[in-house]
Amino acid sequence: MINVIFDVDGTLVDSYALDTTLFCQAVDEILGQTRFREDWAEYTHVTDAGILAEVFQDNAISPDGRMENAVRERFGQLVTTALSDQPCAAVQGAEAAINGLHQRPNVAVGVATGGWSHTARAKLGAAGFDPSSWILASSDDHAERTVIMRTCLERLPDPGAPTVYIGDGEWDQIACKALDWAFVGVGARLKGKTPVWIEHYASCDLGQVLQAALAN
Ligand SMILES: [Mg+2]
Repeated sequence: MINVIFDVDGTLVDSYALDTTLFCQAVDEILGQTRFREDWAEYTHVTDAGILAEVFQDNAISPDGRMENAVRERFGQLVTTALSDQPCAAVQGAEAAINGLHQRPNVAVGVATGGWSHTARAKLGAAGFDPSSWILASSDDHAERTVIMRTCLERLPDPGAPTVYIGDGEWDQIACKALDWAFVGVGARLKGKTPVWIEHYASCDLGQVLQAALAN
């Protein structure tokens, strides 16, 4: 048995630009004009809840559950509206890759995203996936990426089995190192930065890629 856990944004759906812009818009609308760091990688926990917590800190706003919920809700509305105008695309070959893994009896599949679950499901649905029965952990579970990833693993049938994580960000790679999980980098952001890398799923045999990651 092996566990294969996917990130969502940039890994299954091509949503990075949409996500970033609308997250900042939701924060600005609820908290007023707000300062953000130059790059998402500058935040300690690159997750919706983690970034928001540090935005509160950076802008000297005391943490407030009600405001956090308001941002979460507004972000959800903005994403849903944007997706109804223009659905985001699946990363090339991702649907076939996920369906192929779901059919293999010796593979358990999960999704662990630093995003909140409502927007993750909306984006996956808009890109043509049916995530209704997927095992998913998100920023609703925790603000720390490694805790979200472990939460996902614990929801799979055999958490003790070898685990591979597939992600598109350097924060995914760092989290995998911390958890001692095998890692597959996907997409332009990690090109040349990780030993096992794919551009997308249509250009590779995912079974072989997973084996290479586990052997690494
Ligand atoms: Mg990502």
